[in-house]
Amino acid sequence: MKSRKTKQKELLEKELISIKDFFNAEELYKKVKEKGIGIATIYRFLNMKVKNRELHKYFCEGRTIYSMSLNNHCHYTCQLCGRKEHIIIRDITPIKKNINGTICHFQIDVTGICGVCLKKKKTPEKAPEKTP
Ligand SMILES: [Zn+2]
Ligand SMILES: [Zn+2]
Ligand SMILES: [Zn+2]
Repeated sequence: MKSRKTKQKELLEKELISIKDFFNAEELYKKVKEKGIGIATIYRFLNMKVKNRELHKYFCEGRTIYSMSLNNHCHYTCQLCGRKEHIIIRDITPIKKNINGTICHFQIDVTGICGVCLKKKKTPEKAPEKTP
């Protein structure tokens, strides 16, 4: 006989395989709560998977998110309007050169002034120039 814990773990493993995108603990919880799995069990399970390097962990908009298959999560944030965009960075060769070890996953946060704000800046809004 399998223990309740083992059964719950198997159920969670199965759910994870079906998720192809990023997800958070609450989303996983919603999928399995009808089967009697509590949120504490979910957190324990996710932490265990991260430790075993079977799950990649990131932070997005103040929340912890996970992915089985996607090994990077990158943001571009505008300093002026605060708009946040998800960007895809695949080539991290220059970063690899600085690391003495392996890379599991990465999260890069890039900050700047977005295209919309750059355009706004160009429109003249300053006071007419003083004539000497
Ligand atoms: Zn990882
Ligand atoms: Zn994000
Ligand atoms: Zn902006």
